Amino acid sequence: MAKHQDLISAIGNTPLIRLNRVSQLTGCEIWGKAEFLNPGQSVKDRAALFIIHDAVKSGRLKPGGTIVEGTAGNTGIGLALVANSLGFKSVIVIPETQSQEKKDALRLYGAELIEVPAKPYRHPNNYIKVSGRLAEQLNKELPNGAIWANQFDNVSNRRAHIETTGPEIWNETNGHIDGFICAVGTGGTLAGVAQALRARSKDIKIGLADPEGAALYSYFTTGELKPSGDSITEGIGQGRITANLEGLTVDFPYQIPDTEALPYVYDLLEHEGFCLGGSSAINIAGAVRMARDLGPGKTIVTILADYGNRYQSKLFNPAFLRAKNLPVPPWLEQRQPIDV
Ligand code: PMP
Repeated sequence: MAKHQDLISAIGNTPLIRLNRVSQLTGCEIWGKAEFLNPGQSVKDRAALFIIHDAVKSGRLKPGGTIVEGTAGNTGIGLALVANSLGFKSVIVIPETQSQEKKDALRLYGAELIEVPAKPYRHPNNYIKVSGRLAEQLNKELPNGAIWANQFDNVSNRRAHIETTGPEIWNETNGHIDGFICAVGTGGTLAGVAQALRARSKDIKIGLADPEGAALYSYFTTGELKPSGDSITEGIGQGRITANLEGLTVDFPYQIPDTEALPYVYDLLEHEGFCLGGSSAINIAGAVRMARDLGPGKTIVTILADYGNRYQSKLFNPAFLRAKNLPVPPWLEQRQPIDV
């Protein structure tokens, strides 16, 4: 086990874990990068660390300064914990539709939380745009200044995955990897890991697992950004080409409905002990589709993006699932009722 001088040094170097039942089902080796084991329990700790380090290096973020961000939650949690560790403050703008557990975690970390109504990106009061304006204002008002993390278009995010996640996956598989697939929120993970792996092997196939409601499946199949459908997953589902996505090409694009994806996380919890969030379900369903397209005997890696307790009131709540017309796994009905 590694020894670390501080918590943020424990970000990254997550294990790759074999997903036994889907591997058996497909005849492929399907592995999950256990990003829920990061200190903030999600893949976004990596981007948060790189964004803050780069802002410090460039001189934009000064001692005692404030980091402002619009986030579905996980990036905020990553930024708040890195901020606490390095003596910065955090202000987080979040759409009110995101899970209560993520909002509670953000408040616990000491982030100032601003909840805004969910609006599409084109709307001036979309949470990302609100956070950008707020950062500008706070930078003028606060004595130590403020920066906008801007995870969607700040390529420090993608660089975190080019320099850490991608090389880790290559080393953990000893270069025996045929495919990598995941969903897109900002695109930092998919584009960054794709770039790192393609630099090491020209044969590696890159897949996109797009939830319904996102526009990237249509973009990578027809060239048009056309969203369709809906999803209860959080943190993924992009409607535009962010700076982090620029230049990315995808060999296997899939659009995955929740009804196909969610059973994988229920099955993994029941039979293998993993407690994962909804984006991991989309990722695993994508890996299964890619395994079927590549044929048996291949090695495919995906991302286990965050920890499931972050969605206890939604993904693991029978009443919520019923209200969304989603199937409830029988064993979930029998668990202790969840107080929400
Ligand atoms: N899964 C979850 C749970 C997330 O919070 C995010 C980030 N918003 C992602 C996946 C997507 O990662 P990225 O931003 O690197 O595309």
